[in-house]
Amino acid sequence: MTWWEITLLGLLAGVVGTGAGGLFSLPIKHPTPRFLGAILAFSAGIMLSIVFLELLQESMAVSGYTAALAGLSLGMGIFYLFDHYLPHHHPVNPEGNERGAFLKKGVLLALGIGLHNLPEGLAIGAGFSGSTGLGLTLTFLIALHNIPEGMAVAAPLKYGGYAWRQVLAITALSGAPMGLGALAGALIGGISPAVLAVSLSFAGGAMLYIVCDELIPDAYNTAGAHLAIAGIFSGVALGILFSAWF
Ligand SMILES: [Zn+2]
Repeated sequence: MTWWEITLLGLLAGVVGTGAGGLFSLPIKHPTPRFLGAILAFSAGIMLSIVFLELLQESMAVSGYTAALAGLSLGMGIFYLFDHYLPHHHPVNPEGNERGAFLKKGVLLALGIGLHNLPEGLAIGAGFSGSTGLGLTLTFLIALHNIPEGMAVAAPLKYGGYAWRQVLAITALSGAPMGLGALAGALIGGISPAVLAVSLSFAGGAMLYIVCDELIPDAYNTAGAHLAIAGIFSGVALGILFSAWF
């Protein structure tokens, strides 16, 4: 695959994934916080399976455990620094019930999801540098995991009073950074096997940080422990099935 084909696939996984989530959320009139929390937990479960079944495993297969540990440390370390030094919000729980609060929540969530799509795109690009099969599996799983994330972005925007066209446009746009990440992964991962192994585990570390620091706590806060665990379980189970089938 050429770099521009990989970039295009990454962009599609992002835009089509979150866009489909936005589309699915349109007929749901009043999504409850519990429902949004449960689908975030499902998304976190798919991401966990991507980190442990695909990214770290492939990284170790390519270049052994030192490269895997180095990339994991870099990915988690850099996202820890982002988390501490960049101002941001965990906007799943709105402060007030008025529409303005929902609108603000939706826009913040779109930005947050957009940013976290960079390392996920990186995983896709680095995956294709490893093998076409790995790249395709990652593209598919990440696009799938973007659907619940798109629903989480779209619901507060819709409730905040945006027209459906705007909801769809903002939601799909939040998936676009994935193309940029995929381009970076394709270029960096192609340098050498050791660099590829570190890129894969770096993407794994960054995604693990986001799952543990944002998706799972937000899911627990909004959906409660039982629904959150059910969502995480379904996501991981689906990740196992996809890894086995493709
Ligand atoms: Zn994601």
